[in-house]
Order: sequence, then C-alpha cells, then structure tokens
Amino acid sequence: MIIDCHGHYTTAPPQHETWRKEQLSAFAEGLASPSYPAITDDEIRESIEQNQLRLLRERGADMTIFSPRASAMGHHLGDERVSGEWARACNDLIARVAGLFPQTFIGVCQLPQSPGADLKASAAELERCVLELGFVGCNLNPDPSGGMWTSPPLTDRYWYPMYEKMCELDVPAMVHVSASANPNFHATGAHYINADTTAFMQFIQGDLFADFPELRLVIPHGGGAVPYHWGRYRGLADMLKKPPLAEHVMRNVSFDTCVYHQPGINLLFDVIDVDNILFGSEMVGAVRGIDPETGHYFDDTKRYVDALDLDEADAAAVYSGNARRVYPRLDQALSARGL
Ligand SMILES: [Zn+2]
Repeated sequence: MIIDCHGHYTTAPPQHETWRKEQLSAFAEGLASPSYPAITDDEIRESIEQNQLRLLRERGADMTIFSPRASAMGHHLGDERVSGEWARACNDLIARVAGLFPQTFIGVCQLPQSPGADLKASAAELERCVLELGFVGCNLNPDPSGGMWTSPPLTDRYWYPMYEKMCELDVPAMVHVSASANPNFHATGAHYINADTTAFMQFIQGDLFADFPELRLVIPHGGGAVPYHWGRYRGLADMLKKPPLAEHVMRNVSFDTCVYHQPGINLLFDVIDVDNILFGSEMVGAVRGIDPETGHYFDDTKRYVDALDLDEADAAAVYSGNARRVYPRLDQALSARGL
C-alpha cells in the first residue's frame, strides 16, 4: 500500500474560494459573513476525479492524507472569528471528500489560527475534526502572520495547548505555513522552505520533546534545507550542548519526500534515517509543471523514490509503515478495513 502523506484540496469547486473573498470583503466592511454556498456531491466528485484521484491512479499511489489548500489558509487575514469560520468551512469540505472517497482520502485539518490569538480555538477545532469528522492530524502554521514571524518559536509554551490536545488525541501535525504577506518571501519557493528549516532549528534550540515525548511533527518539503545542511545542524546541536539529533529531535520529527528532483531525493535518503521519511508529493500543489529534463511531472515524487531501489522493508516503511506509525488513527482506520 502506498500512502501519500501530503495532499491538498487545491481544486475545490470555485464557490468555496468565492465565499472566502466575500467573507474577507464583509470583514473589511464590518459586516457579518455571507452564508456558505451550496456545493453538490457531484461537483466535489468531479473536482477530485479529474485531478487528485486521476493523478494518484496514474502514478500508482493508493491513498492521500488530505488537507485544505495550504496557501489559502491565510491566517494573517481577518481575525480569529474569520479564521474560525474559514477553517470550519475548509475542514467540512475535506470531510465531504473523505466521505465520498473513503478508500482514498483521509482528512487532516486546517486550524483557526490568527496572529496574537491563543490556541484554544485551534485545539477545539482539532478535537471536532478528529472526533466528529474522523480526521487523523492537523496542519500547524508556525507563522500565522504570513511571513512576518510575530509568533514565539514552536518550542514556546504559547503552543503547548495545541501539543497537549494533539497528544491527548494521539494525532500529529505537519508544520505548514500559508501564503506570504511579505514580498521578500515567495510563498512556495521561499516562505515554505524557510519555515521548514526554521522549525527544525527551533526544535534543536529548545527542549520541546522532553516535555512532550509522544508529540509527533512532520516537516514537509523534504525538511527544507535541513538534510542538505545536516552537518551544520549536528554541529550546532553539539555547540549548544544538546544531545545528538537522533535523540533530541528525530524521535519526534519526520520529513516527507516533497523534493522535486532525483539528486534531492538521493541526498534526503543518504542523510536521513529511512524511519524518519514519509512518502509525500504535495499533489496537486506547489509545482505543477513537467520537468523538461525528464519529461515527467516535477511532483511525481514516487518516480524518484522508486529509482532508489530500496529494499522491501525500507520501501514499505517509506510508502506506508512510517505514515501508519506517525498517524495512528490512520493505522486504526486501515486496520478496521483489514488493510
Ligand atoms: Zn503542502
């Protein structure tokens, strides 16, 4: 079985995005949000069948851990109420996709984060999504300001209510920023990769996993710059008098395979223990084109992983075992189906 740990609903029916624009306009004018539009099951089916489902089948994966479009989370827009309504609408839509295609999609939620707001509403939305909608994790935005970095580091007690709820529900988070409101940082080219790298260094500097030994976090996009600079991070851990990274961070942190060329995947697997790598493609997402050097889609990451010629045990770990370990509620759902 092949599980893609990183997929977003980037192809939602257009009413969804239109409502978001209207919601933000209403907020700017001091008005109440409009009511959410009707979206039919057929519209949802069509948006999935022609996109994610088709590509998943063509590329040979079986299922996707599926979350709302990350760049559209826009936690820096509106206020906490606006983020709450938007997160709920996005998560309910993911639940409908998972309900229509239960063999293929399982939900991960967007959180109603807002700059400066505490995380009570986010913990409550996570609980709703896990207990009522059958979701198996969340996307946690380390920078709800959209590129201004006004929140404390992920190791700060500010974040603890989320971690407590995640541990209580036994679900992980993918550390995932949203759009960039800072013109210095292109969203997917700089802001995403910066955030992945930043989160990892925060984990080195802090001692988060001493307080939460069961907490699990996935750093996407292959861990940002971390694998390439692994020696730097090992050296900094040593200079900061921290334990080796294998004990200090890597019991709790995994990377995905959203690296869009073969040399990058080769390096990821050379440097990072195979038990810390989850197959992911972020499809349909950040880089949608075809690589003229290979003739294949950049985000067809299964090709690169297959080309590594991993032995059977390692391939099983990367393609499904690690995801089932990091997302135990996914494992339970699959076990219940005899998988
Ligand atoms: Zn993503």
